[in-house]
Amino acid sequence: MGIVRTVCGDVDSSKLGFTMAHEHVFMNFGGPRGSETDWSLWRWDEQLDMVKDYAALGGGCLIDAAPRKVDGRDPVRLKAVSEITGVHIVASTGVPFDRPNGRKDTASNYEPDSILALAYKDMSTDDVADFYVSEIEQGMDGTNIKAGWIKAGTCKYVSHTRGEEMAVRAAARASMRTGAPVHCHTTNGGYAWELLDMILDEGLPASQFGIAHIDRNPDYLYHKHILETGAYLIYDGPGKVKYYPDSVRIDLLRRLIADGFGKQLMLSNDMGKKSYHRQYGGGPGLGWIKTRFIPRLLAEGFTQEQCDDLMYNNPARFYSLREKCAPKNAGKDIISPDAL
Ligand SMILES: [Zn+2]
Repeated sequence: MGIVRTVCGDVDSSKLGFTMAHEHVFMNFGGPRGSETDWSLWRWDEQLDMVKDYAALGGGCLIDAAPRKVDGRDPVRLKAVSEITGVHIVASTGVPFDRPNGRKDTASNYEPDSILALAYKDMSTDDVADFYVSEIEQGMDGTNIKAGWIKAGTCKYVSHTRGEEMAVRAAARASMRTGAPVHCHTTNGGYAWELLDMILDEGLPASQFGIAHIDRNPDYLYHKHILETGAYLIYDGPGKVKYYPDSVRIDLLRRLIADGFGKQLMLSNDMGKKSYHRQYGGGPGLGWIKTRFIPRLLAEGFTQEQCDDLMYNNPARFYSLREKCAPKNAGKDIISPDAL
């Protein structure tokens, strides 16, 4: 198949094994820096143990979705966890999304060295893309440990900010320059069409683009029409019954696979909170899809081949490096008139 860029180096994609397409190995997201919240997954012993549990259940790869230092990304510790557990980890560059208040007025809303802060001051879209490329081709945070994919997204499901648009367009350009894929955070599964429009406007093939959290908006035709463009969808909410029962998600999977889109769907659990992990007194942990959800799919008539596509073949294909090409909008800063 292809080559995937992990924190331990480039790996043949057939070696990844069972893969969760959007997870969190280390994270400090959502709270002010220094404070510890439910979103603070940063204790070494607990996080290492969490990945050991995943390995013991047969987990092969985790796609890590904390793209910056300020989100808790730590290349050295990611690599150490991977070496100790044998679980492949693919780290990300990029930004998750703008600040929830959508303020565009001052760079001081951001950590001084963050991409969005710089983007609001004097960086061009190409400068942001240069930074993403350097993290994929040279290394992250002063190390030679490389990112393998690019994250972008919007904090709202009805609008986007100027910084978010610059980050999405830069992600598309860095994706073309490096061959690494892009996947976007969506809030409540919304704004996927608008994100896709920006990506396609930059000239990135839809097949190099994935949309996370889309199952928060369990709308069959919405998903089907996006899949028709060639983009991938990541369902990362199995088992989270606070949103809706899994039967809804399973019906969607059944219909979309029957429609012929079984090669563009990936699963994960986005367990970016302490309360999802045994190590902090919570649950169900990173093994839930493997031990509960896949067996249920099989019991409900899904074939082993279909489940293998979701957990092995599709992430191996999606996270493989593609052929590099020159971004068609290089040299231009394109910001939609309706960006906040
Ligand atoms: Zn996440």
